[in-house]
Amino acid sequence: MLDVEKIEAFVNSLTEGDGAKLRRSLGVGAFLFNKLRDHAPQYLLDALLTFDRLPFEKRKAILEDVRRFLKDYRALQKRREARREVKKKAVRNFLVPLDRVDFLSEAEKKILRSLNLRTILDVLFYFPLRYEDRRPVSLQIAKPGTKAVLRITVEEVRTLEGERYTAEVICREGGSRIRLLFRYKKTDFLRALFRKGKEVVVFGKVKEFKGDRYMVHPQILKDSEFGSIFPLYYIRVKGDAVRIPSRTRHNRIRATVRKVVERTAKYMPEYLPEEIISAYGFPTIDESLEMVHIPKGVDLKDLNRFSDPYHRRLIYEDLLVFQTALILKKFQVKREKAPPVSTDPDRFVEEFERKLDFTLTRAQRRVLKEILEDMIRDTPMNRLIQGDVGSGKTVVAVGATLAAVKSGCQVAVMVPTEILAHQHFLRFRELLEREGIRVGLLIGSMTPAQKRSAHRHIKEGNIQVVVGTHALIQEKVEFQRLGLVIIDEQHRFGVMQRKVLLEKGKGYYPHCLVMSATPIPRTLALSVYGDLDLSVIDELPPGREEVRTLILSDRERERIVRAIREEVSKGNKVYIIYPLIEESERIDLKAATEEYERWKRTLPGMRVFLLHGRMSDQEKRETMDRFREEGDVLVSTTVVEVGIDVPEATLMIVEDAHRFGLSQLHQLRGRVGRSERKSYCYLVVPEEIIRSRSEALRRLKVLVRTNDGFKVAEEDMKIRGPGEILGVSQSGYFGFNIANLARSYDRSVLVKAREDAKRILERDPKLERHKDLRDLILYRYGDRMDLSFIA
Ligand code: ADP
Ligand code: MG
Repeated sequence: MLDVEKIEAFVNSLTEGDGAKLRRSLGVGAFLFNKLRDHAPQYLLDALLTFDRLPFEKRKAILEDVRRFLKDYRALQKRREARREVKKKAVRNFLVPLDRVDFLSEAEKKILRSLNLRTILDVLFYFPLRYEDRRPVSLQIAKPGTKAVLRITVEEVRTLEGERYTAEVICREGGSRIRLLFRYKKTDFLRALFRKGKEVVVFGKVKEFKGDRYMVHPQILKDSEFGSIFPLYYIRVKGDAVRIPSRTRHNRIRATVRKVVERTAKYMPEYLPEEIISAYGFPTIDESLEMVHIPKGVDLKDLNRFSDPYHRRLIYEDLLVFQTALILKKFQVKREKAPPVSTDPDRFVEEFERKLDFTLTRAQRRVLKEILEDMIRDTPMNRLIQGDVGSGKTVVAVGATLAAVKSGCQVAVMVPTEILAHQHFLRFRELLEREGIRVGLLIGSMTPAQKRSAHRHIKEGNIQVVVGTHALIQEKVEFQRLGLVIIDEQHRFGVMQRKVLLEKGKGYYPHCLVMSATPIPRTLALSVYGDLDLSVIDELPPGREEVRTLILSDRERERIVRAIREEVSKGNKVYIIYPLIEESERIDLKAATEEYERWKRTLPGMRVFLLHGRMSDQEKRETMDRFREEGDVLVSTTVVEVGIDVPEATLMIVEDAHRFGLSQLHQLRGRVGRSERKSYCYLVVPEEIIRSRSEALRRLKVLVRTNDGFKVAEEDMKIRGPGEILGVSQSGYFGFNIANLARSYDRSVLVKAREDAKRILERDPKLERHKDLRDLILYRYGDRMDLSFIA
C-alpha cells in the first residue's frame, strides 16, 4: 500500500512557488521510482528512471503525471474499500433479463439488446477487446509516434496556401507548442471551433519534424471522452470477426456498459473456490470485472496483451468453467444406461482381422480393444479416436460396428458431407455385407420416396447400419434399437447435434464413438473433446512412405506438367486444388472452372474432371465416383478436403497454397500417400512469395519439414488459434468470453484449469457446495450440453 498523502506532500513541496526546490534536489527520480515501483504504470516508472537528467520543464511535467497517478490510486483504494463492504448477492441475481432491470433506460436496453446481451451477467462479461490511453499527458513528455490526449490552449488559426494541409491551429501548453493540421476544403468552421484562448482536448498521433510537433486531423474530445484508459468495445459480427462501431455508437455502448458495471459488479460474489484464488494469487471477480471495464492504475501494454492479473483471472476462469462443464457432462453420461454389447475383445479383434485383406497395425488393434472394453460395460462409451490422416480410423469404426450389430444393436454413422457418406457407405457395406449385415444410406439428396423407404427400414430394424449426413438427425428418423453412434469429423456438428442423435436411443443411451478427421494437439483436444475418453492411433499402416512436399513458384509450370504426366503414365491419379471457384469471388484467385478448361487443353488424352462447391451433392458424388473409377486428374476446390480415400492418388497440387491454413493443407496432402506408392505434394505459390521470404513462406515450410499432423496442428494453433483449425468460432463453439487458445498463456493454463476442475468435482460432484459456480456453468452451458442432473 502506498502512503499517498506523504508522497503527494513531497511532490507538492518540490513544485511549490517557482519550483526552486525541484531545481536544487537530486535523486528525486530514484526516490519516487522506489516508492512507486509496484504500483505506477510502466511509462511513468521509465520516465522516473531518467528524471534527474531531464530539463526542468520536463521534470515538472513528470511530477504532474505522478500527481495524476496518485489521484487515480486513491480512487482505486476507495473503490476497493467500497467493494469490500458491499453485501454480495448470488449469481442468480445477475441472470435477470434486462427488461426487468430498473436502472437502465429503454434506450440503454435497446443498445444492449442490439449487442445480443440479454442479462446483467451478459453485460458484465461483454469485454473490451482493446484499450486506448485517454489520460491527458503533458505536451512536454508526449512521445512522438504515439497516440496521446493533449489538453492545450488555442493561440491562432491560420489558413495555408498551396500546401498539403489547408489550415493549421497553433496551440500551447506551458512552454511548448504544437500545430494541429487539417485538410478541409472550407476552413471557416475551424475558426469557430478553435477560438483564441480556448482550452481544447485533442486526441491523435503526436508527430515531430525537425523539433516541430504537430498532429494531423486530431479528434476533439468531449469531457466524457478522456480522463482514463478507454475500453474499446468492438462488435462481434460473425464467428470471431469484429467490427468497430461508429464513434457515437461506441460512446453509447461504453457509457451503458460502464453504468451496468458501476452499479452491479461490486455485488458479484466470488464463485471460484478460495484455494484457487489464493494459489494463483488472482484478484476477486468483482474487482476483475471493474478493472477490465474501467481500468485504473493498470499498465496499458498489459491490458492490451490481456496479461494483467484481472484479464488473466478471467481467462483462467473461462477455461475452468468450460472444463468443469465438460467433466460434468462426462459424469452425467456415466449415469446413463447403455445397451449391452457382449463380446470377448481379444477374440473379436483376432476374428475381425481375419476378415480383412490386410493386418491391423498395433495401434489399430489397441484402439479397437479399448473401444470394445468400453462397449461391454453398461455405461455408455464416449470415446474419441484421434489419428493422423491415413492412419486407418475407418476400419476401426467398422470393427466397433460389427461388434455392436452382433449384439443386436443398430449403428448410425454420421459424416459431414455427402461425398464422404457415400464413400463410408461403400466401405462399410464391402466389409459388413458378407456378414449378412444390411447397410443403408441416408442423405439429403435422395428422393422423398428413397428417404421414406430408408426411414421405414431403419425403424423396423431391417437396416442395421445406416451411414448418413445431417439427414440422420431429423425427427422422422426412428431406430428400433440404436446402440452405437459413430461421428466422423465431430467438430463440424457440435455438441447439440451429437445429442439429438444420441437421444434416438429409446430407453438406452447409445455408445458413442467420435473420430476427429483433423489431428489436433492435446491441449485443443482437451478443450473441444474434454468430455470424451481419448484413443490415439499413433502409427501409419506399414509401407507408407512420407509424402514428399515441395514449395514451387507458379512460374514452374513446366515442371508441374511433367510431374502430372509422369504420375498418370504410371497409372496414378492427380489432384489439383484451387482456393475458390469463380473469378468474381476474388479477382486474383484462379478460378477452378477456368483452370479446368486450361488443364484439359494442356493434358490432351487424359481424363480430367472438375469438382466444386457449387455443384449439387449428387453431381459431386457422381464426379467423385467417376474419378475414382476412370479419372486421371481431378481439378477441384477444397471440397475434397476431408476424408476422401482414393488410394491410387499420388500427386497433390495445391495452387495458391499460401491462402490455406496449415491444417487444411495437411488434410489435403493426406489425400495422397494412401498406399505403398510414392506420393508427392506440390504447394504452388506466386513467385513474389518465394522471393520475399515472407511469413507465409515460413509457415509453408513447416509442411516441408514434417508429415506429422499433430506437429502441423500445433504450429497452426500458435499462428491462428483453434477456431481456424476446426473451422468454428471460439466464442460460438466453445462459448469462451475472453479465452483465446491462440495465446500461449491461455494454452498454458488450460491444462491446469482442467486439473482444477477435476479436483473441485472430486470433492463436490454436483457442485452443491459451489452454488454460484454451478449457476454460472448452467447459465453458459446447461442447455448446450444438457447438464440437467445438477440443475
Ligand atoms: P483415415 O484415418 O484418414 O480416416 P482411412 O480409414 O480412410 O484413414 O484409411 C486410409 C487407407 O488405409 C484406406 O485405404 C484403408 O483401407 C487403408 N488401411 C487402413 N488400415 C490399414 C492397415 N492396417 N494396413 C493397410 N492399409 C490400411
Ligand atoms: Mg477418415
